[in-house]
Amino acid sequence: MSWRIGLPRALFYHTYFPLWSTFFESLGVEVIVSPQTNKAILDQGVRSVVDETCLPVKVFFGHVAALGESETDFLFVPRLISVERKAYICPKFMGLPDMLSASKIKHSPLIKPVINKVRSVNGNNFLWDCASPFTGKWSKIKKAWQEAKQEQERYEQKLIRKHQDISDLNILVLGHDYNLYDHYVNMDLLKKLQDLGCSVITPAQISKEERDAQLKNFPKSIFWTYGRNLLGAVYSFMQKPGKKGVIILSSFGCGIDSFIDNLIMRRLTEYKIPYLNIILDEHTGEGGLITRIEAFVDIIYWRRDCHQNHFSPYGQYVGSCKGNAGIHGVRCNCTTTPH
Ligand code: SF4
Repeated sequence: MSWRIGLPRALFYHTYFPLWSTFFESLGVEVIVSPQTNKAILDQGVRSVVDETCLPVKVFFGHVAALGESETDFLFVPRLISVERKAYICPKFMGLPDMLSASKIKHSPLIKPVINKVRSVNGNNFLWDCASPFTGKWSKIKKAWQEAKQEQERYEQKLIRKHQDISDLNILVLGHDYNLYDHYVNMDLLKKLQDLGCSVITPAQISKEERDAQLKNFPKSIFWTYGRNLLGAVYSFMQKPGKKGVIILSSFGCGIDSFIDNLIMRRLTEYKIPYLNIILDEHTGEGGLITRIEAFVDIIYWRRDCHQNHFSPYGQYVGSCKGNAGIHGVRCNCTTTPH
């Protein structure tokens, strides 16, 4: 019999899809992924959970509903507690299987391994929980896991190589993978920035080794993995030549973002790097987003090309006028020679 397992295209999917899809496919299981996020999926998610839940979890519920219970034999929803030593994933990831069981959404039986690197006594338990419905052979499970890890490694290296190819790094877009790589949720922010002439880099394009090394610049240990990723990426970006600005993409209702973003903004202010904080929820409109990023990109270009006698977003004098225009052809009103 051939088995089919459902993977909702949300949350951990955007970071670990190569790992889990390769693992299940190596076991001979067909992987069914929900469609790209769209209005119907988002609306269904919003209807399925309490209002206070963050946007990414609402989106996740919408994807589970989109998979339904007829197409698949199982639904994969790991209980992600920790993926590295001394750091945790957000509590909502830990509680996902319970939230799902308490909801009215119809879904296939869950495969819900506990992934906890902090407490893991026997690292093989979660592998067995994932694979035992499909095979009882350890050799097959271990081979599938090796292939899956290699595929994930290849994917991560590809992202980093892509970043190395960028010659003029100017905008770091910070956010969780599921906000950055879901084009519907972020209203195609990365493409819009590229269309405005920006080179864009995301935290996943900076290697984990580099992010972790940069975190040593921070006086305290951050124990949330997503917080570590964002702060490490900022420190790394601040060392780079050609850095121009940072966009912080957060989710309304995210506890981690609420304090990590503040730490990041303080560091950026200290280093005089302009930033824009965009908080996403299900009501965020595309028109407002475009206006804000265009204004922000104008500021970035003015700082680079014009240096008019103005105050920057962080409230300090930034330079003098050379009479050049910003990207939208706007010149400052100063009539004097550079001063
Ligand atoms: S880290 Fe924030 S955005 Fe992500 S699931 Fe947790 S609360 Fe939601």
